[in-house]
Amino acid sequence: MNILRSVPGQPEAIWFLEKAADRPHHAYLFAGPEGSGKQQAARAFAGALLCPRGGCGECRDCRLALADRHPNLVVVEPEGRDIRVGLGPDDHGTARWMVAWASRTAPEPGWKVFRVEQADRMTPEAADVLLKALEEPTGGTVFILSSARPDELPETVRSRCQTVTFHPLAEAFVVDTLVNEGAPEERALLATRVAGGNLGRARRIAADDRGLAFREAALEALDEAGRGPAGALAAADRLMEAAKEYQKGLGRDLEAALEPFTDPETGAPVRQFRAEIRRLEERHVRRERRAERDFLDWSLLALEAVFRDSLLSAAGGDRDWSINLDLDGGRLSARDAARAVEVLEEAREALADETNLNVRLILEEAFLRLTDVAPAVASA
Ligand SMILES: [Zn+2]
Repeated sequence: MNILRSVPGQPEAIWFLEKAADRPHHAYLFAGPEGSGKQQAARAFAGALLCPRGGCGECRDCRLALADRHPNLVVVEPEGRDIRVGLGPDDHGTARWMVAWASRTAPEPGWKVFRVEQADRMTPEAADVLLKALEEPTGGTVFILSSARPDELPETVRSRCQTVTFHPLAEAFVVDTLVNEGAPEERALLATRVAGGNLGRARRIAADDRGLAFREAALEALDEAGRGPAGALAAADRLMEAAKEYQKGLGRDLEAALEPFTDPETGAPVRQFRAEIRRLEERHVRRERRAERDFLDWSLLALEAVFRDSLLSAAGGDRDWSINLDLDGGRLSARDAARAVEVLEEAREALADETNLNVRLILEEAFLRLTDVAPAVASA
């Protein structure tokens, strides 16, 4: 079976890509909301291009492509907020580096594939540099740009790409997908709601017992905040600690990922895998840098969802519509619940601004403003 067929819920896009894999255009734009399967499709399409059998799903090329580790595959994603233009061809992960890579001979025979995640995060300078590579394609390269906000890409870049549209997935579809992958139905539904219908996130939440750790930490912090101003400071501490814990967990993931490339006797990396090891480490550094803010954002979003449930119940809505199906929404007036949602939105916005260095202060301020509403929800 073709690996593209394993991408769920996007039959039109997949049908198009299966045909495209035989004679690919040199640039594609995968456009669609977060969680609609763009990333999975981009991995599979890369596999279909790199596999001598067009994406069998079983050979070395397919496996390496799906794991972002194929030598002919380059994955670029924002570092911090942006994809930068870069200082020169050696400035890893930047537009100049990518263009330099495009002009080189592929490490192995076959296509060179570039995947650019969140392509709308390219700075105008980076987009300009990439545009040159798109305008004068060197043979043998295929660019796959992905974006949930394709309108924010320069028209000049968009017009050079063939657009492949991904539609939002229906809730029932995401739940069914998780159930088919082995998740119990109740957990699948909860994960889907908490993830806001984002299949990738829902999958991670459903797969792992620690999948909802961010929500647990957030609820514990809210409980603390219910004790008043001193509690609000403790709440910020609690959440920061949980984020650090999550970051440490990623370190263990890296060790596990590196294990196949280390000598079982000496524990030292095996020389011939040096390039792969380096790439795994670089990706890990990027994830780790983002990890704290990611975890805090999920936590604040989880609290926001709890207060949205309170809002629903204050408005007399059906409990089946709530996000946190396993929690009681608490007793709050609609006005208080709406204000709490607003406080959390503001905190998330402040957190998303990476020039804002004092993360703890953002949390403290948010929890201080939640001290009065916290008891009604946290004790529920
Ligand atoms: Zn294959």
